[in-house]
Amino acid sequence: MTLDLARLRTETPGVAHRVHLDNAGASPMPTPVLDAMTAYLRRESEIGGYEAATELAARLDGVYDSIARLVGGARDEIALTENATVAWQMAFYALATTFKPGDRILTARAEYAANYVAFLQVARRTGAVVEVVPDDADGALDPQALERMIDGRVRLIAITWVPTNGGLVNPAAAVGRVARAHGIPYLLDACQAAGQMPVDVEALGCDLLSATGRKFLRGPRGSGFLYARRDLMRRLEPAMIDHFAAPWVAPDRYELRPDARRFESWENNYAARLGLGVAVDYALEIGIEAIAVRCQALAGQLRRSLSGIAGVTVHDLGRHPAAIVGFSLDGREAGPVKAHLAGLGIGVGSSQPSSTLLDATARALPTLVRASPHAFNTEEEIETLAAAIRALR
Ligand SMILES: *Cc1c(COP(=O)(O)O)cnc(C)c1O
Repeated sequence: MTLDLARLRTETPGVAHRVHLDNAGASPMPTPVLDAMTAYLRRESEIGGYEAATELAARLDGVYDSIARLVGGARDEIALTENATVAWQMAFYALATTFKPGDRILTARAEYAANYVAFLQVARRTGAVVEVVPDDADGALDPQALERMIDGRVRLIAITWVPTNGGLVNPAAAVGRVARAHGIPYLLDACQAAGQMPVDVEALGCDLLSATGRKFLRGPRGSGFLYARRDLMRRLEPAMIDHFAAPWVAPDRYELRPDARRFESWENNYAARLGLGVAVDYALEIGIEAIAVRCQALAGQLRRSLSGIAGVTVHDLGRHPAAIVGFSLDGREAGPVKAHLAGLGIGVGSSQPSSTLLDATARALPTLVRASPHAFNTEEEIETLAAAIRALR
């Protein structure tokens, strides 16, 4: 499976004057995405927002099919949201409405901050408890340890597949097998996985999956989605509803929509939705498998280069790390390093301890410099970053 690198780069015009290595933060949108969005916005200004939505109804509707193809679910199991956090919250808070004192939420050590503070809030409100599944020797969640923790009080398994602060890939499918075997709802944060590696909700065994548009999927900012397995979804009452999620059918009654769009609300950014759909189609057309292979290869190259520089530490965990490289430089803070690199035209991100607090505390991590290549990046760009880091040492 080969991918057309020249085409990818032509359709990512920003690469002409910048080394973009922050695809875990926000990846530059490819031109088909930008074109679809700008054309849509122009149409809104020409004929009006409602009219544009009517005119392009079929394409807007097709976004659900595109995402269903991406994750392997059915279109009625997809909700579009303004980001991954809202998608995750709609799922989590719906489940949490029935939590009682002593109910257990099991999660992973590298859980994302937005999710964890929601656990804490629900724990405080309901008396449920949050427990962290131990890691294996490589630093990934240990499915056997998870299995040993299961009892009748476990109401939810909610983990992050690929955390924000490094290359760790948690064994999401093995977690799914445990969840299925015990009939426990399984909510998977696939934010950094979507667009970077194959996502198949059947193979994963997850009931609920959230992802964002702007990261490895290369969609617009302010877009995201939720996958909600039909049988669970039909039993989930969203914690908040409006008249789109639940049409008002009689003075004293509403009826929840039968599909996952019960987690949406009435007003939306249609240009962003369209852009997300085009981004998903684009990734599928290139081939997610091919993207995954290239992302891994570039990240592997970067890890090897950085590991050879004295005073640089790569902090990634797991046996087969993904395309997020978290590293630190002795005696240098991540913020100024990132700013210095930006001055050289190299875009990287950073990851604060507070965004994965349990993991950062356990490993005494500083704020990390985070480099995250995508398929459109080149080996030369990886070496440009490595050389800039070497020069800083
Ligand atoms: C970025 C990220 C999120 C949040 O996504 P938003 O679209 O910003 O809401 C959630 N989980 C992980 C692991 C992330 O990296």
